[in-house]
Amino acid sequence: MNKNDIIRLDIIDMTSDGSGVGKADSMVIFVPDTAVGDVCDVRILKVKKNVCYGKVEKIIERSDDRVDPVCPVSSRCGGCVYRHMSYDAELRIKHKKVYDAVTRIGKVDGDKVKEIIGAYENQTNRYRNKAQIPVGLSKTGEVEMGFYSRHSHRIAPCDDCLLSPEIFTQISDTFKEFVTKYPYLIYSEEKHSGKIRHLYLRIGEKTGEVMVCVVVNGRSFDHQDELFNSIIEKYPEVKSIVINVNKAKTNVILGYENIVVFGKESITDVLCGLKFELSPLAFYQVNRTQAQRLYEKAKEYADLSGNEVLIDLYCGTGTIGLSMANSCKTLIGVEIIDEAIENAKKNAENNGISNARFICGDAEKAATELQKEGITPDVIIVDPPRKGLTEKLIHTIVEMNPKRVVYVSCDPATLGRDLKIFEELQYFAKEITPVDLFPRTAHCESVCLLSKE
Ligand code: SAH
Repeated sequence: MNKNDIIRLDIIDMTSDGSGVGKADSMVIFVPDTAVGDVCDVRILKVKKNVCYGKVEKIIERSDDRVDPVCPVSSRCGGCVYRHMSYDAELRIKHKKVYDAVTRIGKVDGDKVKEIIGAYENQTNRYRNKAQIPVGLSKTGEVEMGFYSRHSHRIAPCDDCLLSPEIFTQISDTFKEFVTKYPYLIYSEEKHSGKIRHLYLRIGEKTGEVMVCVVVNGRSFDHQDELFNSIIEKYPEVKSIVINVNKAKTNVILGYENIVVFGKESITDVLCGLKFELSPLAFYQVNRTQAQRLYEKAKEYADLSGNEVLIDLYCGTGTIGLSMANSCKTLIGVEIIDEAIENAKKNAENNGISNARFICGDAEKAATELQKEGITPDVIIVDPPRKGLTEKLIHTIVEMNPKRVVYVSCDPATLGRDLKIFEELQYFAKEITPVDLFPRTAHCESVCLLSKE
C-alpha cells in the first residue's frame, strides 16, 4: 500500500475516537467520517507498519447509520466525529465503547452495564455553555475565527458552531465585524505581535447571563470601547465583559489576570439547585443538563441517608459533592488546583453549606492523610482525569473501608483497568451507567457504583 493509492473499502468497525475502520492486504485502515456499513473509495494519506490512515474520496454504498452532515466544517474541524451519523447510532457506539472496556479490561459482567443516558432529543446541538474561539488572519489577509483543526494550530473557519448557543454566534458576528475593521489588532502566534488572541464566551443557562471575555496580548486594545459599547447595546444578556491578559508566548489560551471592563466579574448559573459563580478561569461542566443527570445518577449510587461522611476526590469546584451536601453529615472535597478549591469554598458559602471541608492537594496523598487522621468515610466519590486512579490510591480507598465507592469516569479504558484492581481487593462493580455529556463528539462519561460483596 502506498500513499495516494485509492482503494475500495468496507467499513467494519469504529475506533474509540470515532474513526471508521476497514481492512485490506492485512492492513488496518482508519478513515474518519465513515460509518459501519459504508463501502467507500478511500485515498491513503499515511502508511505505517501495520496501519494506514485514509480519507474518503467517494461513498459507494451508504451505511444505514448515515445522515447528511448539517455542519459544513465538521470534517475539517474534527470536533464532531459523529456528525455524519444518526444520534441513535452514536449512542450505540458510545454504549459499546464503555461495555467493551469494562467487560474486556475490567472483567465486569456485561449485565452490570445499564442503558446510556443520552441527551434529550432537542439537546444534541447547542448544548455547550462555553466557547473559546481563536482569531487569526489567513495567508490572504482575511479574518478567520473558528477552531484549531485537529493536531494543528491552523484555524478551521466556522461562523456558527452547532454545539454553541445562537447568542454566541451573534456576538461572534459582531466581534468579527470589529476585527475586520481593525485587522492590525489581531494577534499573530508566529510573530508574537498584535493584541487580540481569542474570543471567549460563557452563558449561565439557567439565568441567561452571558460573559464576554477577550483574551488580549496586553491590558487593552485600540478602539475597545467601540466594540464593547456595540455589544452592550445589542445584547442585553451580556452582564459581564472582561479582558483576560495573556502576554505569554504560549498556546495556553488564558492568562491569570482578568480586568473587568463592564458589569460583574462573574456570571451565575444554577446546577442541581445550587448557585455557581462562573469567572473566566473557573472550571464548569460545558453541558449543564447532562451534567445534572450524571450527578443525579452519582447521587442515586451514593444512596445517602443524612448521616454519612462523604469524600469527593478530584472535586474541581466542588459541584458533585456540594450537590449531595444536604444529604450527608460531612463532606470532604479534595482537588489539586488551588483556584478550584477557592471556588469550591466560595460555592459552599454562597449556598449556605456549612458541613463541607475542602483540601487542596494530590488525591493520593490527601487520602492517606485523611486515613491517618482517622476519618472513616461511608461513601467515596472519585472523578479523576483521563489517566484514572493510581494503584496506591485504590489501595488507600479500600483500606478506608467505605460502604460504597462511586466512580465517575471520562475514559472507559482507565475505568476498566481500575475496576479490575478494585475487584482484586474485593470491591465489585454493581452497576455502570454511561452518560453522554458531549453529543456528536468522541467523548463519553460513565458512572459506576462499587461495593463489597
Ligand atoms: N468533579 C469535578 C471535576 C472533575 S475534573 C466536576 O465534576 O466538575 C478532574 C479534576 O481533578 C480536575 O479539577 C483536576 O484539576 C483534578 N486533579 C487532577 N489531578 C489531580 C490529583 N492528582 N489530585 C487531585 N485532583 C486532581
